[in-house]
Amino acid sequence: QEDVFKKIVSHCKEYGFVFPSSEIYDGLGAVYDYGQNGVELKNNIKQYWWKAMTMLHENIVGIDSAIFMHPTIWKASGHVDAFNDPLIDNRDSKKRYRADVLIEDQIAKYDEKIQKEVEKARKRFGDSFDEAKYMETSERVKEAKEKRDNLHARYAAAMQGPDLEALKQIILDEEIVDPISGTKNWTDVRQFNLMFSTEMGASADGSMKVYLRPETAQGIFVNYLNVQKTGRMKIPFGIAQIGKAFRNEIVARQFIFRMREFEQMEMQFFVQPGTELEWFPKWKETRMKWHLALGFGAENYRFHDHEKLAHYANAATDIEFKMPFGFKEVEGIHSRTNFDLSQHEKFSGKSIKYFDPQTNESYTPYVIETSIGVDRMFLSIMCHAYCEEKLENGETRVVLKLPAALAPVKLAVMPLVKKDGLPEKAREIINDLKFHFNCQYDEKDSIGKRYRRQDAIGTPYCVTVDHDTLNDGCVTLRFRDTMEQERVKISDLASIIEDKVSI
Ligand code: ATP
Repeated sequence: QEDVFKKIVSHCKEYGFVFPSSEIYDGLGAVYDYGQNGVELKNNIKQYWWKAMTMLHENIVGIDSAIFMHPTIWKASGHVDAFNDPLIDNRDSKKRYRADVLIEDQIAKYDEKIQKEVEKARKRFGDSFDEAKYMETSERVKEAKEKRDNLHARYAAAMQGPDLEALKQIILDEEIVDPISGTKNWTDVRQFNLMFSTEMGASADGSMKVYLRPETAQGIFVNYLNVQKTGRMKIPFGIAQIGKAFRNEIVARQFIFRMREFEQMEMQFFVQPGTELEWFPKWKETRMKWHLALGFGAENYRFHDHEKLAHYANAATDIEFKMPFGFKEVEGIHSRTNFDLSQHEKFSGKSIKYFDPQTNESYTPYVIETSIGVDRMFLSIMCHAYCEEKLENGETRVVLKLPAALAPVKLAVMPLVKKDGLPEKAREIINDLKFHFNCQYDEKDSIGKRYRRQDAIGTPYCVTVDHDTLNDGCVTLRFRDTMEQERVKISDLASIIEDKVSI
């Protein structure tokens, strides 16, 4: 699985999807650039989300708020004081880690151990294996489970607050070693704020410290009344936004899974107080349907309900996707109560209450949030789409089985040879179809090689222009996944393809 992931990362680079930032200067940690194909895929993901939110819901509208915001906003939201990760260094490797992640990895190890015992027993007992009974009776499983549960309980308690000394004690007691140096030479745990800051203005009496937003949500909160009034929105209603967010993540790993500059697609849904726990499951279901509509298979998704809730939330869940390195969070759905709006009322001194014309009451709405990372979504799609197929002739083809609507290029048009008027005919076809969807012209190398190149970037359709085309007005249409070919009329191409590739 690790190998597959490495292959996906290098595929992303080789085919113009994702490049390390500032590569000729040896890169910049956890920052990446999207290449010519990556940007198309990313734009399509954003379109797919944006349309699902704003076009399909008459009570959801979008905004685009600035990255810079008044610094008091981050005081009010709690980010200045509490948007921290517990950090620990290993003295030998000089590497820095998140203490909570080290402990979570340790919990996962116990889980793996239990799982292995169960698998071994399943093999031993065959059909007569009763997993539930085995879990209750096996001494080895019981012991591992007890250790795991104790660790989990200690960890959950230490994260309340959090209690930094208790976190360190867990790392010492569990004898967790640095994966690089293999030693247990740990420093104390300390808090590290994840927000980037910079200076705004250059007046003589000082400039103002401002932050790069760590989430797009606050831009929605501080604008909610502007949108409600100017858009004559009635509760329940939502505001959607796509935009960059920045976090000074301590540990950068797993490629674009955890970046320091990334993009979020967030929607805040404003509801009447007391109805939020009715809306929460509705949004869970709606968001899961959106993911499943891509056709990657329900077995690759799961909910992870939070036991430990942030101080402002009264329900929270993650939608996790099965990446090559395990099930990982792609989207968070949170019932955020009226915490953010009431904090902004308190800190700004302005009333931002909603007047409900039905009940003649003013109140601070409660909020259900859906928050998904564009880059994580991108990664999950790449991981699922990447496929190495053995062909009948013994060759292997690498194909990205992207949903056609998300593919960077929808159609490649290829003249069989670079003469006899075939290139001109191919260009004529593109000139017509480029108004419908993204087309690419390719005349270099053999047809076989050209097909492979398009397979590798996930192009769902290729057409070949040959000598017969000039007489019968037909081309060979080739389908990416089945590699089947069909003779079709040029005049039918737009209608055959458009329907399949539109978002
Ligand atoms: P994690 O626990 O993985 O750090 P989080 O719970 O802090 O994530 P949220 O604050 O809920 O994440 O952010 C919502 C979404 O934004 C996440 O589900 C994820 O898709 C995305 N996201 C958050 N941090 C990053 C990051 N550093 N790089 C890429 N995407 C991110």
